[in-house]
Amino acid sequence: MLNIQLAERVKNLPPYLFATIDKMKQEAISKGVDLIDLSIGDPDIPTLPHIVEAMKKAVEKPEHHRYPSYEGILLYREAVSQWYKKRFNVALDPKTEVLSLIGSKEGIGHIPLAFINPGDIVLVPSPGYPVYPVATLFAGGQSFIMPLIEENDFLPDLKSIPSDIMEKAKLMFINYPNNPTSAVAGKDFFANVIELASAFNIIICHDAAYSEIYYDNEKPLSFLELDRAKEVGIEFHSLSKTYNMTGWRIGFAVGNKDVIAGLGKIKTNLDSGIFQAIQEAGITALNTQDETLSEIRSIYQSRKDILYEGLKNIGILSRKPKASFYLWAKVPDGFDSSGFVSHLLENAGVLGTPGVGFGAPGEGYIRFALTQPAERISEAVQRIGKVL
Ligand SMILES: *Cc1c(COP(=O)(O)O)cnc(C)c1O
Repeated sequence: MLNIQLAERVKNLPPYLFATIDKMKQEAISKGVDLIDLSIGDPDIPTLPHIVEAMKKAVEKPEHHRYPSYEGILLYREAVSQWYKKRFNVALDPKTEVLSLIGSKEGIGHIPLAFINPGDIVLVPSPGYPVYPVATLFAGGQSFIMPLIEENDFLPDLKSIPSDIMEKAKLMFINYPNNPTSAVAGKDFFANVIELASAFNIIICHDAAYSEIYYDNEKPLSFLELDRAKEVGIEFHSLSKTYNMTGWRIGFAVGNKDVIAGLGKIKTNLDSGIFQAIQEAGITALNTQDETLSEIRSIYQSRKDILYEGLKNIGILSRKPKASFYLWAKVPDGFDSSGFVSHLLENAGVLGTPGVGFGAPGEGYIRFALTQPAERISEAVQRIGKVL
């Protein structure tokens, strides 16, 4: 018999805080509870039909059946560059400043391997997407937590980071529109980030997975819209949330060509790129009419209004989201975030995500995802109202 031992990097993974919730969820389902699941950030709306049609045609082409190139077919990277120009008025060289990704999670997970040596510091927002600290850990780096708190509009307080940490930091993750807090960042914040990055030689990785899910026609910024942003970093984008394509696994990274090349080096050695038929369908996705995307946004907007107003009326407070499909609400007095999630699951059949699952500074909050139809969301509000 072998004595099979997990590697230290796996043993050192933080405990999976959603495990108990998953178990309770399965129990509720097996008991026949009519569960309203507002815990997952995965669109319930199917992939847009014109993209599915493009995929059907693409899959028939034998030239797509062979290994793709790791950096993505040039036509896909050109489509990304054109989309960027149109959406943000930022010019990108498709050959050197655009890289295709097997979902943006893949690029976020791999980037520390390209730039972090053991012991190097990575600045990580918390609450936040768990891949940032885990990818840092896998590369042997150390996360320095930047708490996102309401008093600072859920932006990291850059001035509070000690200068010895700044000296040692090699990379910083930021994410706006933000998951889980739904906060957005303005030009001033990004300008401060760029100034700090150039002063301390820190690579900025901005995760913009929710750039196209916004309300009241207030379009979120790209980090690369700011002067000199391209000198200090890259931006991650995803087709998952914008076009309801989470299962397809396609995204991209854009920006600083040396950072893009470093990430590309890791990828050449680990994966062989995205199925070319998916890239071809991705080109069709990127050329989707604005009106079609507006329709999706208005679906989320009405759900958001029902949830925000409904919860406010029963005393559960949150900031009104300007973007993303999440609502980040304060848990009522007398509960911690996990306790409140269990209470709602057991007594109302409504599932949210405990804020603490996104990192300690998320304690005291619950995240609701707008990934259920409006009727189910109003029903959830009614049921919550009865058990407060
Ligand atoms: C969903 C999500 C991603 C990853 O999306 P992919 O499907 O891997 O492209 C990245 N960052 C955040 C914050 C997300 O919520």
